[in-house]
Amino acid sequence: MADRDDHIFYGKLLLKGILRCETGLHIGASKEIIEIGGVDNPVMRDPRTGYPYIPGSSIKGKLRSIAERLEAKTFNRSTGKGMRHECSDRNCKVCRLFGSTAKNKDEENMPSRLRVRDAFLTDESKEWLRKIDTPLSYSELKYENALDRLTCEANPRSVERIPAGAEFTYEVTYDLDNAEQCETDLELLLNCMSILEDDYLGGHGTRGYGKISFCDNRFILRSRAYYLGDEEEKLLEITEEKEEKVPLSINDLRKNLKNLYQSSIQHVFREGV
Ligand SMILES: [Zn+2]
Repeated sequence: MADRDDHIFYGKLLLKGILRCETGLHIGASKEIIEIGGVDNPVMRDPRTGYPYIPGSSIKGKLRSIAERLEAKTFNRSTGKGMRHECSDRNCKVCRLFGSTAKNKDEENMPSRLRVRDAFLTDESKEWLRKIDTPLSYSELKYENALDRLTCEANPRSVERIPAGAEFTYEVTYDLDNAEQCETDLELLLNCMSILEDDYLGGHGTRGYGKISFCDNRFILRSRAYYLGDEEEKLLEITEEKEEKVPLSINDLRKNLKNLYQSSIQHVFREGV
């Protein structure tokens, strides 16, 4: 059953919500696309609109590195910037969720079950950032003073950041293709998102940049039948009695995962095909 499972499409589970910058956020653009006369360290911008955005690959990369440490994986691959873990063990909790590429022809590529979309500013945040007083559009400039450790010479540089309070919509999709591993995968994902809230995203984290939180989170189930046009998508609701409907935090989802899995997700593997 487990082997067969891996090749069947049972549907997708979407996790959506708001990614809120609690402190200034800097996700650097590469030097080649800096305009002449621009800031030293610009942020990534959507070339179509000029608005800053958060690349899905930055969020996914950070979640992966948290997962590698949480699962105490050995770092065996060089990334250019450092080392990371990748293997071809189909039971590896990190690689089955985040994917891995084969190192030689005896190994198999493991496609990632997770996709993390680029996160774009909400309409409210666009409106607010349009009005802030700054020489840059929709962002702020901060001067950091880096000291040269040998000469003690000050080296001031400007860092562009997305101001605290800015909100982006985020979306993560998870492929439902393995009944036995699904619940553990989702548990690892939520645990990593929870750790990320106490860690940082982007650059200059040790200077206090990049504290983020995931708010108003919700799971949406799109079964195989949904994609075949036979069923509506389903918002997974927490049944626990609450005085009023409050937006769900990552911790709310973590606490209720077992319940959500058993009441709503599990059955897609039985009904699926
Ligand atoms: Zn692995």
